[in-house]
Amino acid sequence: MYEIVIIGAGPAGLTAAIYARRAAKKVLVLEAKVYGGQIVNTLDIENYPAEEHISGYDFATKLYNQAKNLGTEIVFEKVVGIETDSKQKKVITANNIYEAGSVIIATGSENRKLGLPNEDQLVGKGVSYCATCDGAFYKNKKVAVVGGGNTALEDALYLADIAERVYLIHRRDKFSGEDSTVNRLKGKKNIRFVLNSNVTKLNAKDKLENIEVVNTDGGVQTIEVDGLFVAIGRIPENKAFANLIKLDDVGYIEAGEKCHTNVDGIFVAGDNRTKDVRQLVTAVSDGAVAAIEAVKYVNN
Ligand code: NAP
Repeated sequence: MYEIVIIGAGPAGLTAAIYARRAAKKVLVLEAKVYGGQIVNTLDIENYPAEEHISGYDFATKLYNQAKNLGTEIVFEKVVGIETDSKQKKVITANNIYEAGSVIIATGSENRKLGLPNEDQLVGKGVSYCATCDGAFYKNKKVAVVGGGNTALEDALYLADIAERVYLIHRRDKFSGEDSTVNRLKGKKNIRFVLNSNVTKLNAKDKLENIEVVNTDGGVQTIEVDGLFVAIGRIPENKAFANLIKLDDVGYIEAGEKCHTNVDGIFVAGDNRTKDVRQLVTAVSDGAVAAIEAVKYVNN
């Protein structure tokens, strides 16, 4: 029996754990994969206050240790659902059922896929969703990055220092990521911008050999690449709670700035909540708010 069970050990979940432990609550964090969430894939965080440069892995490790040192229990199990019939909640994993006074859902989001027929089969054979994890395999090779947000821009910048050539393919004529990063990309001689274009085919034998790219004017080209990095955003990981918790049209958990869901005593924190700005600082902010609200709930 825990006073607060937190689902997800990313920045939002671990921050919630720090706040809940500092309020002396018995806290369990359940994590399906590894601690840190998507931030571990960021090579260099430059926009976190008071940290001019820190790697995502170092940031996540510091946060994890801080939560652990404050007495948070962290168990690596995938949550498959939550049940509630009164004030008491049950958080269900494949192996266990954890009783909780309150629950904070901080499950973040997963990679959006292009949806091409052989995309899944080619993961690890040329297709990747994480440049900082897999970029080193493409030293002096040709790669493409798809997407126009900050992730795609930063991935292209990172890969430009490893690969021989980087194609940055985006379906619009302008990027939505930061202008300063676009300017840095323009300064790289081995980056080719392929705008107003969509990747429509992944051609492979044992591994990826080339991609078909169709321009919005109808022009088709084949680009020889060894690797394709898909960076087209993320989708919230809320499926396990959809029978109980109200989601918006695109799958985010509906909640205001106080992080209350439609179910009393269940809160949401981080990228899987409806909000305008999804950043590291807003994720940790949610973690703090959700924990404070959960503490109030269990104290009543
Ligand atoms: P994002 O901002 O949602 O951008 C997704 C990009 O993928 C957009 O350019 C979108 O194009 C494109 N896209 C979406 N679906 C597509 C499809 N099916 N085919 C082709 N292109 C598609 O995602 P993100 O770049 O992962 O960033 C997520 C959040 O994290 C953002 O708030 C971002 O600012 C933040 N972030 C911050 C940092 C940092 O501060 N250092 C680093 C990384 C990410 P359209 O514009 O046409 O929809």
